[in-house]
Amino acid sequence: MAINEMKRGMFPKKSLGQNFLVNKGVARKIAECSLAPNCSAVLEIGPGLGALTLELARVFKKVVAVELDSGLIEPLLANLNAAAVSNVTVINGDILKVDLESLFAKEFAGMGVVCASNLPYYITSCVLVRLLESNLGLMAITVMTQKEMAFRLCAELKTKGLGAISFCVRYYSVPKLLFLVSPGSFRPVPKIESAVVRFEMLIEPSVGTVDKQFMFDLIRAGFGQRRKMLLNSLSHSMGLDKRKLEIVFAELGINRLSRPEQLDLVDFAGLADKLLGDFEGKEGAGL
Ligand code: SAM
Repeated sequence: MAINEMKRGMFPKKSLGQNFLVNKGVARKIAECSLAPNCSAVLEIGPGLGALTLELARVFKKVVAVELDSGLIEPLLANLNAAAVSNVTVINGDILKVDLESLFAKEFAGMGVVCASNLPYYITSCVLVRLLESNLGLMAITVMTQKEMAFRLCAELKTKGLGAISFCVRYYSVPKLLFLVSPGSFRPVPKIESAVVRFEMLIEPSVGTVDKQFMFDLIRAGFGQRRKMLLNSLSHSMGLDKRKLEIVFAELGINRLSRPEQLDLVDFAGLADKLLGDFEGKEGAGL
């Protein structure tokens, strides 16, 4: 499909991550892997020319697809019409700005919903954090992204290759790397390999903490200087007292020399709960 469009003089926009899927088998596999029990609807991000959309339309009762590039809407609708697909609603908008709560209330009332996407890779983290943190009641998120990013998203805690986002993923979901996809499955052919990842959303977050935002601030502060000892990073970037940090680390049984990737979510939740009062005190003191 994308090949035809390109023959007709349509040039994909690199700036919008437009590498279109031309491998039908991969599109079908992603659509089938996106299913969840009692789910009849799917939010698709970046339908492009509709390679994945068509397969999603076969598997789900209703598809709502949000595409940023207004120049793609007409060819996308034409491709859906040509395939006699009538269960897809296309919205021209930016997934990072669309009011998702209103969209869900309007389009998906009473339906079990999942998300599926061949993501524009340049916004993978922002989109995922937005979806994971949302209260949309999504049951699962299945996305294709860059292979290295997929490994990071699925990294087990306390292993190498972790990033701050790996904690966000594991706070809200159980991630699973499904399969790799070679560059030849796209047009234009990208220089990178891709992978499909599924996030099974948890009903309750995986750990309890008084202030999850503060916990994520600590995680981000740690990974902002990942080669440094966490205790030093927290002291420098959050203005927390080093002596107090040493006491709290000892109370929680965390080695004071630890680097951020040596902690898990329970450790960070513990730190957040014990340090919140001190941090609020600092904030109040104008630090
Ligand atoms: N789903 C199609 C496929 O598999 O062939 C296209 C995937 S392409 C990797 C990413 C798509 O996301 C492009 O169509 C691009 O225009 C769209 N896109 C980029 N940024 C977006 C945003 N902020 N909101 C919605 N769509 C976006």
